[in-house]
Amino acid sequence: MSRVKGLRARIADATENRRVVRAVHRATWHKVDARVAALGKLRHAEELRARAARIRQHTLENLPRYLEQFVERAESLGARVHFAPDAAAACRIITDLARTQGLKLAVKGKSMTSEEIRLNEALEAVGVRVVETDLGEFIVQIDHDRPSHIITPIIHKDRREVAHAMARELGCEYTEDPTEMTKIARRYLRDIFRHCDLGITGVNFAVAETGTLCLLTNEGNGRMTITRPRVHVALLGIEKIIPRLADLPVLLKLLARSSTGQPMGVYTTLINGPKRPGDVDGPEELHVVLLDNGRSDILTGPLPEVLLCVRCGACLNACPAYRNIGGHAYNSVYPGPIGSLLSPLLYGHAYDELPRASSLCGACRLACPVKIDIPDLLIRLRALTRDRQPWSKRVLMRAWGRAMQIPWFYRLGQSLLREFLPDNGEGWSERGPGPLKDWTASRDLLRPQALSFRRLWEEELHDER
Ligand code: SF4
Repeated sequence: MSRVKGLRARIADATENRRVVRAVHRATWHKVDARVAALGKLRHAEELRARAARIRQHTLENLPRYLEQFVERAESLGARVHFAPDAAAACRIITDLARTQGLKLAVKGKSMTSEEIRLNEALEAVGVRVVETDLGEFIVQIDHDRPSHIITPIIHKDRREVAHAMARELGCEYTEDPTEMTKIARRYLRDIFRHCDLGITGVNFAVAETGTLCLLTNEGNGRMTITRPRVHVALLGIEKIIPRLADLPVLLKLLARSSTGQPMGVYTTLINGPKRPGDVDGPEELHVVLLDNGRSDILTGPLPEVLLCVRCGACLNACPAYRNIGGHAYNSVYPGPIGSLLSPLLYGHAYDELPRASSLCGACRLACPVKIDIPDLLIRLRALTRDRQPWSKRVLMRAWGRAMQIPWFYRLGQSLLREFLPDNGEGWSERGPGPLKDWTASRDLLRPQALSFRRLWEEELHDER
């Protein structure tokens, strides 16, 4: 098994790949502009964001009650609800279902939760073929790649790369025409839809009041995945519950605008149980797998606000770090600012570095439709994982903290920096010594001024007197 590279090495790899950096830059800026324009046209956008935040906050504060209500309503509509405490249990529930019912071909809608539990691998291990039906996820699958964005899985690919993958893996004629490529994928997937017997989707929101599942897609593949196979499995993270049907429009108005700048997702599907007598389509069986997988611990831990997230991806697009390194450098299903919080909380110590890979500029906070204060959470998570940092770093930071509290020591540090930081002639240093070497490798450092702010201030006071 190949060893996973450290964060620094992954960032270095990512920034060297100019093609990926260009593709991610272009796409994320486009989405940022589209989001700003779409929200600009929405009346009372700020009030709506505040309402959405309140709905999510209220839900989390009353989650056990709403979960119970959802289970009762969904079962009364004919769904079977399973509770999965962790990823292994969720995979077991779904693979057992496939095995006992002899299901062999699964079509799948886009679902980050299924990526989180590595469902495809589990199903393939018991002989079920899984075919992704979201176009981006389909490309990722045939190219043996990984998604790099929670909404736009192939944000790191350009059309040439997609064209090569399609020609190589599907045996079709090489074309870089997006319309032609979409038609090829469509033809391929139509045949799969004809023969599939299991449909798997994620869920955007589940309404406790009515037992309704809400699913947003842009390609209509979600509807085909739900209605065509005999059995439908909806994989639902427990935090995706909302209390009332009336809460849904508030969140829907913000979700698509924040994700892609669209006023609405192209297809909004509401699922109320399996097919009933007289229905023309729908699955004969609907199974809802309620996934915990660490969410209860997050909810009762010091950073429950992380679970307010509605997975719109806006914070990824807004983040300058994400834009420069892309999603793969995070080495997690959940990249970007929200991934830097979720990954350590869900997967543990191996992701301790991620909260530190942020400039804390606050662009993510401004972009978030449910007003999650991501920079504040990142700082709090850094503090919680401080004891697991290398001792050299801890000693250095403690010394720095102390020094900042001793005025004469601070002044001495300033003078030393002025003395030893090379000047590029414009008051900046491009090559710092010792611990400043890494910092100045990718950015310049402003040299301390001859007359410090403190001295200026003192002189000002002196003159006034
Ligand atoms: S944290 Fe906010 S902006 Fe980021 S994905 Fe979640 S809801 Fe969207």
